[in-house]
Amino acid sequence: MIEREGIASGTSFGNASTLADYGCLPIARPEIWRSMPSLLLSPDSPFVIDWKCLPRLSPWLMRFMGQCNATRFRANSEMLAQLLSHTYTDYQPLLDDAPAAAAMIQRKGCLYAYGKAENLQAAQGDIRLRDQLGIHQQVLTADELIALEPAMEGHTAGGVLFPSSCHLDDPQVFIDTLATPLREEGRIVSAEVTRLSRQAPACCWSTPMAGDSWRTEWCWQPGPGRQTWPASSATGFRWIPSVAITSNSISSTRRSTARPARWKAPST
Ligand SMILES: Cc1cc2nc3c(=O)[nH]c(=O)nc-3n(C[C@H](O)[C@H](O)[C@H](O)COP(=O)(O)OP(=O)(O)OC[C@H]3O[C@@H](n4cnc5c(N)ncnc54)[C@H](O)[C@@H]3O)c2cc1C
Repeated sequence: MIEREGIASGTSFGNASTLADYGCLPIARPEIWRSMPSLLLSPDSPFVIDWKCLPRLSPWLMRFMGQCNATRFRANSEMLAQLLSHTYTDYQPLLDDAPAAAAMIQRKGCLYAYGKAENLQAAQGDIRLRDQLGIHQQVLTADELIALEPAMEGHTAGGVLFPSSCHLDDPQVFIDTLATPLREEGRIVSAEVTRLSRQAPACCWSTPMAGDSWRTEWCWQPGPGRQTWPASSATGFRWIPSVAITSNSISSTRRSTARPARWKAPST
């Protein structure tokens, strides 16, 4: 794993901390067209745009708006539900290796509370769609919801409980703890990726040299029509700059590993 700043220094540093297998209804939905004026003009809007960036953002915004129709909403929901159905099973092998991280998962469910009856009514389409997608949910009356969360007394018309949802107190600490086995094995490289390139299938070995500022890379590419370096031979040798352009090229964890980094280039 190559990381330029530190584990969980990006978005994972401060997200909403939920393991949300129910979160399969995308933001790109047909109602966005109707809400656009208030999204753009209301001071309370969750949508903020830096107008200076509009020319650069426009292609993405157009693609986003192209997904805001009933057909794409349904198709994207189905795809997200399929992806999210792996939420817990895909975490499990990582959690098995990092029991301290497993202990941080709070298995208490998640509650959607609606303040007004008309909002709960408007959410019925979403509730039906989640049912069709096999999401585990329980629709609650106001009294049932208040029994679970007394602080909502007088503030809710009812809601939905997602019993299998989990949350974390601190996503950064969780991800950092999840990375413990990688750190112990010296598999975290502190460096910046500056370029990705496609290669023909090859077997490459790389060895840090000269205080990690440079490393040697050996590649072997089998088969006819191979792209090799140097071009005329089946094995190549070259000096290349370390993965990073920044000075902190390879971390001490990497240096501590006994075996040289070795990888197989992905086939194109
Ligand atoms: C407000 C908000 C709330 C959210 N809430 C939830 C939630 O409740 N539940 C949920 O499941 N998801 C949530 N998400 C989404 C979730 O946070 C992201 O999907 C997830 O954090 C992405 O993880 P990541 O590892 O792909 O990216 P990141 O956490 O951003 O990690 C990318 C890492 O790559 C490093 N990096 C970047 N460029 C380079 C480079 N060139 N070379 C080397 N390293 C580099 C960065 O330093 C960074 O550490 C939320 C997102 C937002 C914005």
